[in-house]
Amino acid sequence: MTDTPDHDAGAHKVRMQAVQRAQREKTREARDPERGLVLVHTGNGKGKSSSAFGVIARALGWGQRVGVVQFIKGSWKTGERAFFARFPDELVWHTMGEGFTWDTQDRDRDVAAATQALARAEAMITGGDFDLVVLDEINIALRYDYLDIARVLDVLDRRAARTGVILTGRDARPELMDYADLVSEMREVKHPFAAGIRAQRGIDF
Ligand code: ATP
Ligand code: MG
Repeated sequence: MTDTPDHDAGAHKVRMQAVQRAQREKTREARDPERGLVLVHTGNGKGKSSSAFGVIARALGWGQRVGVVQFIKGSWKTGERAFFARFPDELVWHTMGEGFTWDTQDRDRDVAAATQALARAEAMITGGDFDLVVLDEINIALRYDYLDIARVLDVLDRRAARTGVILTGRDARPELMDYADLVSEMREVKHPFAAGIRAQRGIDF
């Protein structure tokens, strides 16, 4: 095999050293945040909630305390819920009493349930006992105006210094994305549902 300029080992090393220098410089200049970060996972592709569950695993690995509030009633039994039940001392999980579903047609009931879930979330976020609080599918409640965006931003702004918050769900409000430190948009490239394949245990719930 002949070495083209691109594959020249010496040149590669010099280039990589320059990349490494630039990276180290950036890392040196970066700082720790004054308080927990606010993360938003949105978009129409799969991975918003499961990514949040991955962050929960990381936090638990460091012995941190985690709270989860689910704003939509998903499947009654999920793998994540069963798994995280193994951490009763570190993790508090709250599913909205009467989670709304696509079938719900009682708006007042949905608003009451979402408001109550937000009250639970507020206590966790402002109380100072949690390192991470996940508000799963809260963007759906905001999208349907079950919750007021100004009220949610006010809760986030009063978060305890140690507490980071992840908010998931499609169609995140622009005001929330402005406020957040991190916004990731999952974009659907391909999903088995389009080919008529139903949700799979372990992969989807
Ligand atoms: P996950 O919990 O798997 O990370 P998600 O939180 O990104 O998914 P949601 O909008 O909360 O997605 O939808 C939850 C359920 O809908 C999951 O079972 C997921 O596999 C499925 N789903 C997610 N994205 C799509 C899609 N683009 N088309 C069809 N079904 C989807
Ligand atoms: Mg989700």
